[in-house]
Amino acid sequence: MSQVEVLPATCPIAVSSTFSDSFAYHDNRGSFSLVLSTSPSNILTKPNLSLPSSRNAENHVQFDDEKGEKIFPSLSPLFRGHPEIHLRNGIMKASRQAAANQADAEKAFFVADLSQVYCQHERWLKALPEVEPHYAIKCNPDPYVLRLLAALGTGFDCASNGEISHVLNIGGIDPSRIIFANPCKATSFVRSAAKAGVDKMTFDNADELYKIARAHPGAKLIVRILADDSKSICRFGIKFGAPLDVVPSLLAKARELKLDVIGVSFHVGSGCYDPSIYEDAVKRARTAFDMGTHAGYTFSLLDVGGGFEDGHFETAAGVLTNAINMYFPHRHREGIRIIAEPGRFYVSRAFSLAANIIARRAPMADGSIEEEHRTPGPKTDEPSVMYYINEGVYGAFNCIMFDHQVVSPYVLSLNGSFHHSTSEPLSLSSVWGPTCDSIDCVCKVAELPSALQVGDWLGFDNMGAYTICAASQFNGFEFSDIVYTASKAADEEVRRVLRRFAKDLEVS
Ligand SMILES: *Cc1c(COP(=O)(O)O)cnc(C)c1O
Repeated sequence: MSQVEVLPATCPIAVSSTFSDSFAYHDNRGSFSLVLSTSPSNILTKPNLSLPSSRNAENHVQFDDEKGEKIFPSLSPLFRGHPEIHLRNGIMKASRQAAANQADAEKAFFVADLSQVYCQHERWLKALPEVEPHYAIKCNPDPYVLRLLAALGTGFDCASNGEISHVLNIGGIDPSRIIFANPCKATSFVRSAAKAGVDKMTFDNADELYKIARAHPGAKLIVRILADDSKSICRFGIKFGAPLDVVPSLLAKARELKLDVIGVSFHVGSGCYDPSIYEDAVKRARTAFDMGTHAGYTFSLLDVGGGFEDGHFETAAGVLTNAINMYFPHRHREGIRIIAEPGRFYVSRAFSLAANIIARRAPMADGSIEEEHRTPGPKTDEPSVMYYINEGVYGAFNCIMFDHQVVSPYVLSLNGSFHHSTSEPLSLSSVWGPTCDSIDCVCKVAELPSALQVGDWLGFDNMGAYTICAASQFNGFEFSDIVYTASKAADEEVRRVLRRFAKDLEVS
């Protein structure tokens, strides 16, 4: 019998008193410690977050830590404080709901930190002050993220009718801030874009030009050229981008159809891990600009696409800036607007996920069909415990399949406590999603405390990009909820810009 089966299987989540009424903990990941209380009337913790009262007075907004702030009537409230606090609050809330036998009490949930999005924008402005970001909304069309970015003045990269409506329905966003950056569009989508006032769109083939000539003759076109995408997680080159040698004929066709081509775009692929690739792409764009001149156009837009990875951002920005300066020197740059289409850069770090361990078992051993393939003796390099959590690859973890991500779980709560010692014995474990499909594996091998039980919670960071947006409800598992916070890093700034944006919407 395996070790798992002899472990006492308690279910701490069902017993709210397992979370002691009031306890302090030291976080071994973050740098803060606080006192949490589980009494229902005081569920939201009040660590040292109160701001100087003068600053509160200045904004004339009474902030209620328990209820958060309702900035937009249609959205859930915005809280403040470190995401960690809200992960723990959510777990305690789940614990109380479980004690009250509420359905779905232990549901997985996200915590989104809007300050993180704000800080990424600051990082962008600092590293690429000349490049106007157009957020690729497919990456995460979260209503708060879109409103914050709209309030900060970014543009938007949309790829469909639905995405265009999604952005325009927010209100307060002029269609000129949208680029329809899908080179292969249905004719009806081109027509809808025309109706919505979205003029900027990309193309990379001749059929597209005929469609646009018919459905939106006044469009401002951008030729998407093929870039070397061999250094990206998600390669786009097999699907999109005109090779440079066909660009002259495409431009001649556009001329013939009396279409206006205003510039060049490329995309190095999503999740670019070798920033040097941007240099080659800008060089190709320069060639395409010259081809434009040759065809009788005066190009005024350079779109450097997306692909910016959080971890390589400053390096990529440096390479890009140097390449722009080299191929589009200042003296020739007048009248040329440079834009980009970052997606994951803005959101990947802003979302964390808390998932509940709903089941646990030992891997198949005796009588397994694979038995004959096994090497004799104890297997030390294979997981000895399988944990089943309530998010999986059919849900938010679809990023594992589609976005080639590798996720790493950490312990949020162990045996009903947020505190666990780093000397806790570990076991090789695997983590699985809740559906009945065996493809639903979140993590093949992870070192997790041997004492983890059903009812404990695992956390996953960097869950903001290409997760929620592509999740399904396969097998009847619902989408996870999202709790919004603006942590200390930019709490005041986020609230200020969002309040102003909301107010402008009200008056317009
Ligand atoms: C997906 C996509 C992006 C965003 O890519 P990231 O890697 O998330 O930055 C930008 N532009 C286009 C055309 C895309 O298809």
